[in-house]
Amino acid sequence: MARKFGGDRLVIASHNQGKLREIAALLEPHGVDVVSAAALGLPEPEETGDSFVANAELKARAAATAAGLPALSDDSGLAVDALDGAPGIYSARWAGPDRDFRLAMERVERELAARDGANRRARFVCALSLCWPDNHCESFEGTVAGSLVWPPRGERGFGYDPIFLPEERTLTFGEMEPAAKHAMSHRAEAFRKLIAACFAP
Ligand code: IMP
Repeated sequence: MARKFGGDRLVIASHNQGKLREIAALLEPHGVDVVSAAALGLPEPEETGDSFVANAELKARAAATAAGLPALSDDSGLAVDALDGAPGIYSARWAGPDRDFRLAMERVERELAARDGANRRARFVCALSLCWPDNHCESFEGTVAGSLVWPPRGERGFGYDPIFLPEERTLTFGEMEPAAKHAMSHRAEAFRKLIAACFAP
């Protein structure tokens, strides 16, 4: 049985504006007052875990301990089948110190081309961890399957959204209305699991 979230204030343990926006939108219907780790001046811990869940727990634990409040974190990324799951947990790092996702998308395309480029299947993965100041964590994972397009399409979303075409769709995540992405994304699936386990009455 998962521990329930009983408070009304939650720290979002992320400094990524794209994720903060999406998490705040997904939490809005649940009447939770959210505050970002950046707004509280909390440092960003190093992501030394070897899985999405390990990194999500590490970030949420650090924020919960520092803030003395429950904290929610998201660790996510793009896993490309023909690249054996890369960039995976290194998705942010492929964008370099300036977080330039044009460069990261070009690297994905270059590495795919080097492997003949025929298999363009990929998925986004999202791990969400809700941790309390006493170190207890509840973690959930969501995925969405699709394929990669080139050149990138659309200006919406963030990160790798412009090259990700979800299965059976014609618009990339970069072209979709935010509400359409929120209805089907890896983050939305992880959220549904989190809400059912920790927020539902
Ligand atoms: P991290 O979880 O902070 O290590 O960073 C994950 C990285 O994966 C982000 O900076 C994005 O580049 C990428 N990513 C995660 N979720 C999405 C998404 O919904 N759309 C596009 N890129 C994403």
